[in-house]
Amino acid sequence: MLERALQHYFGFSSFRPGQEEVIRALLANEDVVALLPTGTGKSLCYQLTGRLKEAPVLIISPLLSLMQDQVNQMKKLGFKRVVALNSFLTREQFTEVLANLAHYDYIFVSPEMLQNVNIGRRLKQLPFGLIVVDEAHCISEWGHDFRPDYLRLNTWLKYDSRPPIVALTATATSKVLADIKDVLCIKEASMYLAPIDRKEIRLARQWFTTAQEKVNWIEEYVSTTLGPGIIYTSSRKKTEQLTAQLRKWRIKVAAYHGGMTNEDRQLIQEQFLAAELEWIVATSAFGMGVHKNNIRHVIHETMSPTLSGYMQEIGRAARDGQDALATVLCTEQDKEVLQFLHDTVPTEEMVRAYYAHVSLAISDSNAELLKYLYANYELSQAIVYCQTLKVEKNKAFQATKNYMETSKCLRATLLQYFEQATVPQQACCTQCGLNVEDYKEVRKFTNLSKQSLDWALRLQQMLLK
Ligand code: ADP
Ligand code: MG
Repeated sequence: MLERALQHYFGFSSFRPGQEEVIRALLANEDVVALLPTGTGKSLCYQLTGRLKEAPVLIISPLLSLMQDQVNQMKKLGFKRVVALNSFLTREQFTEVLANLAHYDYIFVSPEMLQNVNIGRRLKQLPFGLIVVDEAHCISEWGHDFRPDYLRLNTWLKYDSRPPIVALTATATSKVLADIKDVLCIKEASMYLAPIDRKEIRLARQWFTTAQEKVNWIEEYVSTTLGPGIIYTSSRKKTEQLTAQLRKWRIKVAAYHGGMTNEDRQLIQEQFLAAELEWIVATSAFGMGVHKNNIRHVIHETMSPTLSGYMQEIGRAARDGQDALATVLCTEQDKEVLQFLHDTVPTEEMVRAYYAHVSLAISDSNAELLKYLYANYELSQAIVYCQTLKVEKNKAFQATKNYMETSKCLRATLLQYFEQATVPQQACCTQCGLNVEDYKEVRKFTNLSKQSLDWALRLQQMLLK
């Protein structure tokens, strides 16, 4: 019966692992937490459920670009009554949509939008058949740092006629899964935890003594290797610098980061999808909702702060199931920087001062967190909260550091963090005898040497003068 519906609405002949179980549980009005690998088709779980329940669906989604992308995809699939309540709408459009909410079958919102009293109240009046929290790991990882509105979801979600919730994610540790259930106030959740290993993504690690050596290595790699690929760096400035450097090799490359306008970011995503760009140099702002299935390389110029983040980022490669290579470049200094990033939880003194209304010089993320704690907890609870958070962050940092340093299998180390085991595999990672060259397709026009290219560029500049 379900398969007929799948065929009817999507034209697919069978479910991917996990989809059917999730949909069945939702049809039985159970709350569900589903951990399914990237590219499994998590969206289909709520799209089909909505159709079968013949009730509207609310999707809480973390990023504007992601929402926009989902809406476009759904429209292409033939879903007409789909809307994203966000800043892409003009003021007039927004008012219009808000006045006609009942018209829509699928409504996308950000957690911030739900905090708007008017919008939050209007949405509660709709007869939703399902509430979706997409990329639900954000509840935990971003909730503490930058997105307190994710933590505030639980207040909004407490209402009598609340429909079942499905939390969807591709990466979560048991701690994150517990956070998800806690924040969403789901006591009895059906859990679907699929294996998260992506065998087709080969893992490589390279050590360097200086940051400059890493840049040289990337230049060499990208100028001789065919993409498409993503290079993750740790700052906006680095994305720009590296992009400029790679352009000298006439590589079709662009930078992508959160400081760019929505339009620019949208354009770069589209160009990358259309193969007009071969490489993207990005901060972690890039990736969610990028449906490009032939990404062959993910290079981390700097290791991600957490292994969950790393897993997400490399998971963007190889969605077509063909081999891909994920390489992390490491230096000793990187470890210090990562340690620093993890050391940002408010101290007991800070919490006490904040509660006593003493003014403080603190980071934006700490200010957000303290504001949230003050509104929801007693002083003593807030102190314990921060202590626990510090322990968690330290654990996360140790795991990241261990991935950079370990002499054991990288895949086993990565999966261990998610409490999952690996199936031994040939050429799994650089610790298990992977020959990286086997997984690189050589760029064809290598007869153009760097010298001649520099010379050509100089000539061009002279002519332009
Ligand atoms: P996720 O959110 O899990 O990363 P998406 O929901 O974006 O993945 O889906 C990835 C792709 O898989 C989409 O192009 C979707 O149409 C396709 N897909 C989903 N379910 C199926 C299925 N049962 N059979 C074939 N393709 C599917
Ligand atoms: Mg998705």
